[in-house]
Amino acid sequence: MKAAALVGPGRIELIERPNPGPLGNGQVLLEVKMVGICGSDIHYFETGRIGDAKVSYPFVLGHEFAAVVKEVGPGVDRPRPGDTVAVDPAISCRECDQCNAGRFHTCRRLRFLGCPGQAEGCLCQYVVMPSHCCFVVPDGLDIRDAVLTEPLSIAVYAIDRAGLKPGMDVATLGAGPIGLCCLQVARAIGAGRCLVTDLLDCRIEAAGAHGADWAGRPEGLSQAVSRLAPAGLDVVLEAAGQQAAIDQAIGILRPGGVLAVIGIPRTDRIYINIHTARRNEVDIVNIRRQNNCTQRAIDLIGDGKVEVGFMATHTFTLSQCQQAFELVAGYKDGVIKAMVRL
Ligand SMILES: [Zn+2]
Ligand SMILES: [Zn+2]
Repeated sequence: MKAAALVGPGRIELIERPNPGPLGNGQVLLEVKMVGICGSDIHYFETGRIGDAKVSYPFVLGHEFAAVVKEVGPGVDRPRPGDTVAVDPAISCRECDQCNAGRFHTCRRLRFLGCPGQAEGCLCQYVVMPSHCCFVVPDGLDIRDAVLTEPLSIAVYAIDRAGLKPGMDVATLGAGPIGLCCLQVARAIGAGRCLVTDLLDCRIEAAGAHGADWAGRPEGLSQAVSRLAPAGLDVVLEAAGQQAAIDQAIGILRPGGVLAVIGIPRTDRIYINIHTARRNEVDIVNIRRQNNCTQRAIDLIGDGKVEVGFMATHTFTLSQCQQAFELVAGYKDGVIKAMVRL
């Protein structure tokens, strides 16, 4: 089969890989239909690593995808061949202490697609997954929306963990796909004021057009907070991976507010203003992808409670991956989410 592999820093080539072998118990053979390029893929593309997860070349990236079931292994009743599925890219062992505690996303033997040292990704024609990672999508759901359930599930999880409730005021710092998904979920659950920042005009516009009460550059945020939520924000969702955003978040939360850290910083350390954070007893919550939120993300889209399709601004073929990654890495041409169609 064909696969788009990272062959060196900043270089992706189309290579041949053997087709997956016979299916084991509980496994499903998926024909990949569409893959979304994630910010984390871009970290690996540019630098070959995130923290101590280092790429050894060649390596196939990609973890956000929708597929059609080609074949199912022994013991699988659902999904069935021919079903279109959204996929949770986290293959957990279902045996360790974390899995037994229901924390599948921090499984001790986690194999996450496209994560160096764990499993190769889905930028290829066929992938084998356990059936429990495959979620049949409603008939007629756009394939792009099926792909976007993965980033949306992270927003669902982050908002749960942050304890955002109806009526609460929230800021999302960073209006990339994850930030925009957070905005959508916050709106869907009936949050109060929703403020969004980004550095790019096109993303500020997208946030303004899709539910934000205020969207603008970070410099304007504290003024917007004093106008719209003078007591301070209940929740800040950091989806930029920037020190400046963390600093700003701590300054705009009300005492007892929650900062959820979702973004992946390029640096290995982030500092917090500990005196403001402790005096205001800010709760800092780290978000590790998501756990058990894929079906809820599908339902939010299927029930029309959120809108995510607008994020898919660009579509490429598998042989155009180099171009697609360069576009996303360079924030070019108003890109929000680039898709690869197979
Ligand atoms: Zn991702
Ligand atoms: Zn486990």
